[in-house]
Amino acid sequence: MNTILRVAIQKKGRLSDDSIALFKECGIKFSDARKGRLKAEATNFPMEFLFLRDDDIPGYVEDGVADLGIVGENEMAEQNKDVSVIRKLGFSKCRLSLALPRGTEYNGVKDFEGKSIATSYPHILGTYLKENGVTAEIQEISGSVEIAPSIGLADGICDLVSSGSTLLMNGLQEVESIFKSEAVLIGPQKLDDAKQAIVDQLLFRMKAVTTANNNKYILLNAPNEKLDEIIGLLPGMRSPTVLPLAQEGWSSVHSVIQEDDFWVVIDKLGAAGAEGILVVPIEKMIV
Ligand code: ATP
Ligand code: MG
Repeated sequence: MNTILRVAIQKKGRLSDDSIALFKECGIKFSDARKGRLKAEATNFPMEFLFLRDDDIPGYVEDGVADLGIVGENEMAEQNKDVSVIRKLGFSKCRLSLALPRGTEYNGVKDFEGKSIATSYPHILGTYLKENGVTAEIQEISGSVEIAPSIGLADGICDLVSSGSTLLMNGLQEVESIFKSEAVLIGPQKLDDAKQAIVDQLLFRMKAVTTANNNKYILLNAPNEKLDEIIGLLPGMRSPTVLPLAQEGWSSVHSVIQEDDFWVVIDKLGAAGAEGILVVPIEKMIV
């Protein structure tokens, strides 16, 4: 029987769209959970997908029901299952933070001594409090944590924050960030060789997609006497391609540049005499 890798992704929530987009960018075709299915087989890669609640994913990977999964690092740390991070994925970035009603005086984590804190992350919070020598009562609740102080359930909360607007809307202020999280690809400590070979192919594709997303293809026109200076500004993969333009004395320069570098050198390129600068996305990049 042919080996198929089984991958668990979130059915519906903050991780779903980016998880599906990542596999699609890797060229893997399948019909997704929005069409009401709980399982889908890829049509052009030895892989099938399970669409689950994110809470279930670390456990399914640990038990071997799924070979890989995508979850937030927060969920992985909270559940503390025997799984490992294969690759950080760079999306669904957020942090787990302590927050208190706005206007509360705050001088440091010791202020939580003897207080009650509502959270869905008792394990991460408990570890943090212990490390900081603080004894507080942890009220575990599964949702709408941010309303706990206003209904008198707890003095403060510990919850996921990205922009902070939910805290603000509920009259809370973030006082301490205790854990940083992003989506990660997780797997068991060891897979059999046939499955590992599929994971290696997948990782090769993921790397090509990530590298491509961080790089841009740049084209510009330059007067020949300025070529050396302009080429010196472009940290390409090797050296840039230089082609003559129909207009005498001018060349077209093509290179690959990291998006962050581009914003640093753009002014210098203009000052050095570059014209008609085009920056275009790269779909896949193998280095
Ligand atoms: P499920 O129904 O699958 O259990 P959920 O309600 O537990 O879903 P979501 O709210 O969809 O989970 O969040 C999934 C993950 O997205 C979180 O565990 C976290 O890693 C990440 N995330 C990113 N930004 C935020 C945010 N602003 N608030 C909450 N989670 C966020
Ligand atoms: Mg969940």
